[in-house]
Amino acid sequence: MYEVSPRVKTQFEKMRQLDQVKRLLDFIKADERKSIDELKELVLVEAPTHHEEARAAVIAEKFRALGLEDVHTGRGGNVIGLRRGAGNGPKVLIEGHLDTVFPFGSVKGVEERDGFLYAPGIGDDTRALAMMLSLLRGLNATGIRTAGDVYFVATTREEGTGALGGMKDFLEEHPEIEISLDIDSNDMSRIIFEATLCQTWEFTFRGQGGHAWSAFGTVAQPVHAAARAVAKIASYEAPAQPKTTFAVSNFHAGNISGVHAIASEASFIVNFRSNGADEFAREKQFIFDAVETAAREESEKWGKNTIEVSSRCICDIPGGAQDAHSPLVEAAWLSLSSLDVSPWLEQGGSTNANIAISKGVPALCMGRAWAPDENSKRVHNHSLDEKLHIVNAHKPVQHIAQMLLMAAGLDGEFGSIVKG
Ligand SMILES: [Zn+2]
Repeated sequence: MYEVSPRVKTQFEKMRQLDQVKRLLDFIKADERKSIDELKELVLVEAPTHHEEARAAVIAEKFRALGLEDVHTGRGGNVIGLRRGAGNGPKVLIEGHLDTVFPFGSVKGVEERDGFLYAPGIGDDTRALAMMLSLLRGLNATGIRTAGDVYFVATTREEGTGALGGMKDFLEEHPEIEISLDIDSNDMSRIIFEATLCQTWEFTFRGQGGHAWSAFGTVAQPVHAAARAVAKIASYEAPAQPKTTFAVSNFHAGNISGVHAIASEASFIVNFRSNGADEFAREKQFIFDAVETAAREESEKWGKNTIEVSSRCICDIPGGAQDAHSPLVEAAWLSLSSLDVSPWLEQGGSTNANIAISKGVPALCMGRAWAPDENSKRVHNHSLDEKLHIVNAHKPVQHIAQMLLMAAGLDGEFGSIVKG
């Protein structure tokens, strides 16, 4: 049984009693339809990773209209706006990512039926942007003044080859951030507080190549070297705990006109992840050793010509751990419970929170939807038939509101739960 410490519990209960907070939660509930309609507009402004400008401009305009100060485009295209606090609390970031995995032309419209919205990117992570706007309206309408400053940020390049780039840029530009609240998961009941280490590398094996018959025996074969490496990697025994994974993809070599050739080049990509830093280091070493050994074995077999290997890092997502009883995690547990959602602690995570956690900044990744059953959980992220469950769409917004107040503190009432 997960027990919340008395300190966090006391502050949370105090917060829930406050009239201002009750009005905020009521406002957010009443704002639900407006927020969903705004989401339907936002998703039409497409934002493939590395091409977020149009959507960024729309968000910047909305941030300004909602009274954020100093709204501007930061490093790497992030849209940044400041909601100043009373000056006696930590600097808090709340963010969702602008980009989606879909190329321009993927979104044909938005359909609403049976408690879902249908459109590519409707959830991941467009909903987070609409949630932040609804939260801002609520804070403004109820005149809430946080103790600490809050940065509202729409980040770029979270997905794929963006590799959390927008978040990296923001935290480099703003090392003063002390708490990070991220919104990027399907199911609000999951508390994501860990950060899985993840890297993706491409290995390229090069040799002289030649004719499959006449050059045979005179050259080492790059494709065979690459295949040896993959076979070795495939044999790796990854532990179940901490969860550790690996997958080879994009094995490329040769071409169709060269079916009777010893191709001069072969390459593959491997992605590997772990929730444990030691295990991650061990796995990475194994993969690099496998590549080196494979190239050497293939070279030695022929004794002539040698295989050269080069490596290129495609993606490097740092990670780390936080205590399951850190104040943010405990606060999230109470906040979800107060909204009649049964919380559970997710193992690992690969979200923008990783960047904060790897820098030692307390962080949490929160969800975009109320998802009480299997049907509402199966939303096909990163697929053209992506959908978003919008029944009780105000609940995740209420959750981020409560978390923001617990993190930033409420002027005149209580301080930050993280810093207390
Ligand atoms: Zn996402």
